[in-house]
Amino acid sequence: MGNSSGKVQDLSVLKAEITQLTQGESCEMEFCEGEDAEAELHKHFVRCRKNPGHKKFIPVSQFGTQHLPASDDADGAVAMIKKLAVDTVKLIVRYTSKSRPDKFGLPTLKGKRTPRFGSGVYLPPSDSMENQPCPLKDCPFSKDDHLVTATFSVVTAAHVVYDDDEAVVTSVEFFYDDDKDRSGVVTAVGVQIRFVDEGADLSSLRCISHDLDLFHKLESHKTLTKDVKWSMSDPMAVLISHPHGCSKQISVGDVVERKELTPPQRPSFLRPSFKDGEEAKAMKNASADAKKCLAVLLEKVFGLDKANTEGSGEDQLTIALHGSFLGELRAEGCIVSVSESERDFWQKVLVQTGGTDSSSSDADLGYDRSWLTGVMNEVFSPPVSNFLAAPQKAFSIEALEKDPVAVLELLLGPSQEQETYAPSSYGNVKNLTKFRHMSYSIPSCPGSSGGPVFCWRRDGDELRVSSAPHSRAGNNKNVSGLSVQTDWVPSTSTSS
Ligand SMILES: [Zn+2]
Ligand SMILES: [Zn+2]
Repeated sequence: MGNSSGKVQDLSVLKAEITQLTQGESCEMEFCEGEDAEAELHKHFVRCRKNPGHKKFIPVSQFGTQHLPASDDADGAVAMIKKLAVDTVKLIVRYTSKSRPDKFGLPTLKGKRTPRFGSGVYLPPSDSMENQPCPLKDCPFSKDDHLVTATFSVVTAAHVVYDDDEAVVTSVEFFYDDDKDRSGVVTAVGVQIRFVDEGADLSSLRCISHDLDLFHKLESHKTLTKDVKWSMSDPMAVLISHPHGCSKQISVGDVVERKELTPPQRPSFLRPSFKDGEEAKAMKNASADAKKCLAVLLEKVFGLDKANTEGSGEDQLTIALHGSFLGELRAEGCIVSVSESERDFWQKVLVQTGGTDSSSSDADLGYDRSWLTGVMNEVFSPPVSNFLAAPQKAFSIEALEKDPVAVLELLLGPSQEQETYAPSSYGNVKNLTKFRHMSYSIPSCPGSSGGPVFCWRRDGDELRVSSAPHSRAGNNKNVSGLSVQTDWVPSTSTSS
């Protein structure tokens, strides 16, 4: 009875189920411990313990008004949800980083190549849509020079793709809507992490595809859905994801609770020991000119003098962090603001003196040598020069760990954070209220992690939307949570 290979495969299914149990409460990924991923994933789907039968998961092609609360405008809602589904992708992550935080679980998977499966959402390239030379070293598609698409983003949960090590082994599958027909599936690959926020369980990775027709295909899939104008009377929540790493499914549920975000208490980046120490005291007592020189010198140390250049997400975050740090030093009276001409002047002085403790040639800048020597002596006097040797020591990383959400808001401001998660189908959106926490009740399964959750509600005349990657599946299998929410008005909504 039966065959031995079948039993071996069942063993791998059981092994993957055990792995599932170790992924921490915020996570809902699927795993493959066997050889033939497609067959294994199908077994997981069939064996599902959480939602046996998957009756509340609807394939995109079958999704219709009967799956939504009764509404005058259910056709519009269906069209909108199908449009959003086009941007939803399946993610296969073929490595688990050793650097992942413990709260994301998977202690036995770290450093291993066991494939993990989640979901994500596509965001179009921010500037050029032009093709570019393939950036992959040892590209598996071709050894010759060849083109790939412009770099675009995929947003998912931080626990699905956490860092560069995971981003570079991530495969992205577009248009995987039908388990029986994968002929239309287009793949893409991750090249780098763009942004990661553990607190909000949100990450964004830069991706490219070797299918140069990808952007065109995305657009043409969307034109299959009709012009979308819709309103809605009842609040509603929708998840679009790839449960068990199988084809795309839509599930519909409710918003359970939402807590509005009160203005965060401004976290301090300066260590208390620095504020009360010799170095801060010496800086506070310095002359206004010395404080200006220090400000310009620190801008240079932190690379803020070229802050407007394009960088990776991490670079931008570091720049924002250093900017806030200088802001705090100003608030403490350790440095003062400089005008454009003052910045220009002190930059020239620092170049001429090599940023050291004395002036050398001062003729063409037209300043008094003894005055400058005095200022430089203040700037490079022992307590201040100790600080200059290692300004990072005055900086508190604990502030970041205490309340990453508040820190992120402080650093990036509301507009940029929202920008990280507004699917392209919505076009331009108006940013509104922010929510620190929202919980929803939507059928979800392993593999749903990182899939977009949309919550709609009406507020007076306006239709408001919150969205985030699916996260925090939690202990209560029927309620999941989103940690940071931005409530916005889609440009496609109508007011009646
Ligand atoms: Zn399931
Ligand atoms: Zn290539």
